[in-house]
Amino acid sequence: MKNRIFERCVGELSRLPGIGRKTAVRLALHLLKSDAQLVKNLAESMTELKEKTVFCKVCGNLAEEPICHICQDGYRKNGQLCVVEEAKDIFVLENTGFFRGLYHVLGGRISPLDGIGPQDLSIDRLLERIAAEGITEVIIATNPDIEGETTAIYLSKVLKNKGVRVTKIASGVPIGTNLEYTDELTLFKAMEQRTEFHD
Ligand SMILES: [Zn+2]
Repeated sequence: MKNRIFERCVGELSRLPGIGRKTAVRLALHLLKSDAQLVKNLAESMTELKEKTVFCKVCGNLAEEPICHICQDGYRKNGQLCVVEEAKDIFVLENTGFFRGLYHVLGGRISPLDGIGPQDLSIDRLLERIAAEGITEVIIATNPDIEGETTAIYLSKVLKNKGVRVTKIASGVPIGTNLEYTDELTLFKAMEQRTEFHD
């Protein structure tokens, strides 16, 4: 008889990004052999994540309240706003500890091949925020690949004549390397040596 319960767990795990059937089987076996409390904690943390974590309605960061801790922090309203593709990029930049301003999550990047255009990104909201929150510098920190660069160029055009300084993190981030795989020192330098945007 087929092991229905085991197969169900493998099936659920293999729905996750980057998890093929082989890995799912390995993970399910690992869970089976693990301490019962550890598995319980994992299951509970996933349920809690889904039930209690939302995306900040101002910037798009992860939050446990409608507005995230960064947007709520008065000290971070220093006029700087860093634009990233996804909320996960905020984690990476926060780890460097260098940037002390606000963030804005676009929710993706311009990618004609995937049918994603500027209208699918949170760009109108970005423009509203620049006007409403006294932003003086927009730092573009999209990924240094073709889609990220396309998005950066588009943003720089949209932001022209909006009365803000537009900069881009330096090319210390190697081309084709996503921000999440860039080490903190490189990212720290890229942020420090950011340049005026010229398209
Ligand atoms: Zn926020």
